[in-house]
Amino acid sequence: MSAVDKNTKVLLDPFGTTMVEDYDHLCKEFGIEYFKPLLSKVPNSNMLMRRGIIFGHRDFERILEAMIKHEEFAVLSGIKPTGQFHLGTLMTAKEIVYFQKQGGTTFYCIADIEAYEDNRIPLERSEKYAVENVADILALGLDSKNAYIYRQMKETRVKDLAIMFGRALTLATAKAIYGKRHIGLYLSALIQAGDILLPQLRDFGGPKPTVVPVGVDQDPHLRLTRDLAQKFQRKYKFIPPSATYHKLMKGLTGSAKMSKREAADSLLTLNESPEKISHKISNAFTGGKATIAEQRKLGGIPEICPIYDICMFHFIEKDEDIIKIYNECRNGTLLCGEHKKQTIDIVLDFVNEHQRKRRKFIDKARAILGVM
Ligand code: SF4
Repeated sequence: MSAVDKNTKVLLDPFGTTMVEDYDHLCKEFGIEYFKPLLSKVPNSNMLMRRGIIFGHRDFERILEAMIKHEEFAVLSGIKPTGQFHLGTLMTAKEIVYFQKQGGTTFYCIADIEAYEDNRIPLERSEKYAVENVADILALGLDSKNAYIYRQMKETRVKDLAIMFGRALTLATAKAIYGKRHIGLYLSALIQAGDILLPQLRDFGGPKPTVVPVGVDQDPHLRLTRDLAQKFQRKYKFIPPSATYHKLMKGLTGSAKMSKREAADSLLTLNESPEKISHKISNAFTGGKATIAEQRKLGGIPEICPIYDICMFHFIEKDEDIIKIYNECRNGTLLCGEHKKQTIDIVLDFVNEHQRKRRKFIDKARAILGVM
């Protein structure tokens, strides 16, 4: 929602700027449940869960029960084809792959209508990005044989649902949720609701628990969809969708969210050259002090540092290693220059391997999306 809480500086806007300074307050304000109490029951919990990066949920118990009892559930997420995969979108990719491995029937949506309405990306251009984005997600481990990957623009069932849902959304409610926006954005919110409920249509086996793993800035879409699921319950027997929410990863410039809306220097994509990656990390904002002497004496602040986020969200697997980085930053043993060099090496290893795998999936991505 484009809601601003002036006291705690929380702003959630899936079509614009998002800022969260206090996740506890956010949970309280918007009725988001904490993920931590469920953690010990989650099968094969991953690094994002263990570290509290996935911090919140709505109705995740339903998914947990299905996972534990090996019953049917679905997972749906997607990407706006507005540019290259970056470290922020990598989180959602890891989450969908995780749920697929836990037995979820998998849906991956290419949100080309939203790219058009929100980012003004013409379909011819978003098609190119869509192919690349799908090659990325396949290289990251999504099993296409057991997934339905589709473009909003081509998925009539999603558009049909959106048209029907339009009857249940007044302009006043749309404004209350998303702020004053052009009709196209309200329409794309309805399309997203269609995406989220698509797995529950009869064509896909009917109602089933469905989890949507996303960044918390997408919560307004989830609240709208859960409301629509109730309103159309009698006709479709929808089960209100569940969600897991991850924290937002900072941009390299120190911005609140690594996002394609930000300047290019703020983003680290999976498909840029080693030189660019090195340059961007070397020049990134940090939580360090102005001089080495000062940092040795006072230590850095990992909580505000995007380099620390890169390590914690993605690249340092062992929990004891990330704790060591945190402590050494805090006590001034680790300096930013040295830490940036280590991070460049780790990121380049990952990106080189990813790009090698991804090249092999480009033709497959074209075939999946029907792009010649
Ligand atoms: S030492 Fe590392 S984590 Fe600490 S402020 Fe510098 S770059 Fe960030």
